Amino acid sequence: MKKTRIGIVGYGNLGKGVEAGLKHSPDLELTGIFTRRQPDQLETLSPAYSIDKLIDFKNSIDVLILCGGSQKDIPLQAPELAQTFNTVDTYDNHNEIPVHFERLDKVAKENKTVAVLSTGWDPGLFSLNRLIAEAIMPKGETYTFWGPGLSQGHSDAVRRVKGVKNAAQYTVPKKERVDKVKDKQPIHYNKKEAHKRVVYLVLEEGADESKVKEAIISMPDYFQGYETKITILDQDTLDKDHQGMPHGGTVIRQGKTTDENTAIYQFGLDLDSNPEFTAAVTIAYARAAARLAKERQYGAKTVFDIAPGYLSPESPEDLRRKLL
Ligand code: NAP
Repeated sequence: MKKTRIGIVGYGNLGKGVEAGLKHSPDLELTGIFTRRQPDQLETLSPAYSIDKLIDFKNSIDVLILCGGSQKDIPLQAPELAQTFNTVDTYDNHNEIPVHFERLDKVAKENKTVAVLSTGWDPGLFSLNRLIAEAIMPKGETYTFWGPGLSQGHSDAVRRVKGVKNAAQYTVPKKERVDKVKDKQPIHYNKKEAHKRVVYLVLEEGADESKVKEAIISMPDYFQGYETKITILDQDTLDKDHQGMPHGGTVIRQGKTTDENTAIYQFGLDLDSNPEFTAAVTIAYARAAARLAKERQYGAKTVFDIAPGYLSPESPEDLRRKLL
């Protein structure tokens, strides 16, 4: 059987994850990695090219997996590349997803391509599970808890505080809240009250520890209003204990099947590597994108629009036999 040919756009954490993850999918093959940087300066395991050469690969790539950042890269790269290629992205700016969808849908329909957006785990698998739980149990409450996990954005924000040399920030759900929800008890939920922020940082020489701590806990949007714990460490300990990118979380719906009975629907992830898992999800959706394109189901698609069987390399007959 002919393999589906994949291109990777952007070689950061996610791009590396896709390159590694493709090795587990014998029905897919990597054509190349495309970067805005000098390709020969990247330590890739596969052929790398300048993104300016991407158009030359028009006929040797079936789906591009877009691995750029959600803030600045994807809003520009995705609509441009969807003019020529089928694409998959992990765009995670939740408020802007409807705008991203409309933009991609127009481009993809005009150019007869498929653009799968906002895959990954949140948005992505968490969204899908929220939808399923709410469709099955319209009466009830859905709770999402994120972490324990490293937050790249919050770690960057701490690193920018005057006096901080290096830092890692973890988002940690409050266990007593999670346990209460799983125990079918009602809770008052808001994101700030349900999560803690745990910071490990290395101070610059001569920095004022109390000023640094005050600057962090009073940071609007990021830390203000959150229970925050700050631990000062040395660089060696930070390097040894805080190099990984773990993450995960839980979606829980407390649904009322009758007025008397409650059902708990939960979907949880515990990830040693957030980018590697996110990459694994994009790979399955790239397989789906290739199939949709073959069927001429052009336009933008989200995880809500794609039938689960399209994610699997197995045939519908095999899936019915083995997994149903
Ligand atoms: P990243 O490592 O910062 O990479 C983003 C882009 O920056 C790369 O594609 C790369 O593009 C460029 N880059 C990477 N390292 C660089 C370096 N040393 N110097 C200069 N440029 C560099 O980001 P990431 O961790 O891969 O995450 C990408 C996006 O995935 C995030 O923005 C996030 O929104 C999304 N995400 C989504 C989910 C989800 O569940 N939906 C989960 C996790 C992440 P070039 O190669 O072209 O330079």
